[in-house]
Amino acid sequence: MIRSNFCRRLAQVAVFLVFGAGGVSSSAAWQTASPAVPTATSPAWRRPPATATAPPPAPVTRADILRGAYGPYRVNNDLLSYHLDIRVDPEKQTVSGKNSIRFKMLQDGTRIQLDLHSALNVDKILLGATPLAYVRDSGAVFVDFPETLHAGQEYTIDFYYSGHPLTTARFGGFTFGKDPAGRPWIYTACEDIGASVWWPNKDQWRDEVENMQISVAIPNGLVDVSNGKFVGKTDLGDGYTRWDWLVQYPVNSYDVALNIGNYAHFSDQLGDLALDFYVLPEDLEKAKKQFVQAKGMIEAYQHYFGEYPFKKDGYKLVEVPYAGMEHQSAVAYGNHFTNGYLGRDWTGVGVSPKFDFIIIHESGHEWFGNSVSAADRSDMWIHEGWTTYLEVLYVEYTFGHEDALKYVNGYKAKVQNREPIIAERGIAATPPQDMYFKGVLFLNTLRSVVNDDARWWTLLHDFYQHFKYQNIMTEDVVAYFNQQTGMYLTPLFDQYLRHTAIPTLELKFNEADGTVDYRWQADEPDFAMPIRVGKKNDWQVVQATTYWQTMKTPLKKNEFDVATDLYFVNVSKE
Ligand SMILES: [Zn+2]
Repeated sequence: MIRSNFCRRLAQVAVFLVFGAGGVSSSAAWQTASPAVPTATSPAWRRPPATATAPPPAPVTRADILRGAYGPYRVNNDLLSYHLDIRVDPEKQTVSGKNSIRFKMLQDGTRIQLDLHSALNVDKILLGATPLAYVRDSGAVFVDFPETLHAGQEYTIDFYYSGHPLTTARFGGFTFGKDPAGRPWIYTACEDIGASVWWPNKDQWRDEVENMQISVAIPNGLVDVSNGKFVGKTDLGDGYTRWDWLVQYPVNSYDVALNIGNYAHFSDQLGDLALDFYVLPEDLEKAKKQFVQAKGMIEAYQHYFGEYPFKKDGYKLVEVPYAGMEHQSAVAYGNHFTNGYLGRDWTGVGVSPKFDFIIIHESGHEWFGNSVSAADRSDMWIHEGWTTYLEVLYVEYTFGHEDALKYVNGYKAKVQNREPIIAERGIAATPPQDMYFKGVLFLNTLRSVVNDDARWWTLLHDFYQHFKYQNIMTEDVVAYFNQQTGMYLTPLFDQYLRHTAIPTLELKFNEADGTVDYRWQADEPDFAMPIRVGKKNDWQVVQATTYWQTMKTPLKKNEFDVATDLYFVNVSKE
């Protein structure tokens, strides 16, 4: 489904159309972050841990552009629905079947762009009974129609494919694995590499289907847990059983998941929301204890933002052998049924051992990432910065404000400030991990700028409600906060999201006069941010700008404090 913010962004994407059609050179200006190297301990994060020297950025490839740009053969159509209907063979390690893709043309045209990884075969593509011609280019599949498709008309094509899907690193892409008892354990996780690593679709972030059927045939005795509501299973009479799932909401293609294993199932309710849990039988008792946390998590997020977004589909946690992933309504869980993050105190301040980080973080994405989604990977902080902030809200709701402040400030040690949080648009570039840590510290700062908690809670709630089920960009977030607060926050957002450095509050003391001069040093010339200074518990708010101003203070240089737990800033004193 294409969302309300689509049209006014056509002008922005026009620049990419040039690149979508022709050859693309890997010029220095088109460089992206190095490809993520997931490890067993870092699946939730899209990059390896910090090293002393940042690795050189990988050149942008033609495949990156074809997948990342909203090119002319994507712009001309709007997704309506998918029915992914496949057979998974654990012995041969193959996937085969079809995706029926229903879409509406927005312009007259004879070609659309779909995507399927080059490791997989296109068997045939049909419009009704008519075979369609197609051209493969890197991961893109350009489908050509013998007659013009007309704007406003709806069409369904059946895209048949088969092959051995790619496994990237230890858990990425599509993995034919085994559980500890040696039974098949097959799972997908493809946010970085894209859903087209294992099934044909329009593999981008701007346009989502409005609903989706997922049908997965697997050997009898195994269970497939996919997204959405469980519809039923059918014995196919050939040793295979088909599991049918129905997603009744828009869904990002990378959220679509298979989890095939010897799962045990138990269920619960939160009000009239169905909670379903799927774990290996050996882990059932541990799971029944640990997954109680799902209720408190949902209650906390519903308190701040409103109803769980995918109520008709229910909420599920599904055990996987990697740490976790926010697959919509079927959250992948691999945190070993213990608190913290893989047994560690995640922000190092004694708060994270009070809760299961993966339940709290990955499920937070149901609100930010899955319901409110970014329209381009460049603006992925809308998923990760916000969801990291949801962790802080969970802590505040559950353990109180003091713990929340400790927890969020624990993230400071993880910030790198090496490149801006917002990455290059249109090239499927994954932003740096600062989108999580600096992102959350920025949102904590924004709360202090609003400086009125009642208003802040209303803002958060209304922001989510305004953009739920939509795909938006940072400009939409900034415009909303400007409009709702009546403040001009654009330079503030830009400084934190589009520059490398955080602002520095410069202080020059004149103790003889009992005054201090203050100003912001920032990249944004119009940067302005009120900040609490002076004495803790008796702060004075100064309206600091990039110009020098003077305030009176009885405090000496070494007594004069700045509320750096409420604002993510540097302070320099002279
Ligand atoms: Zn996340």
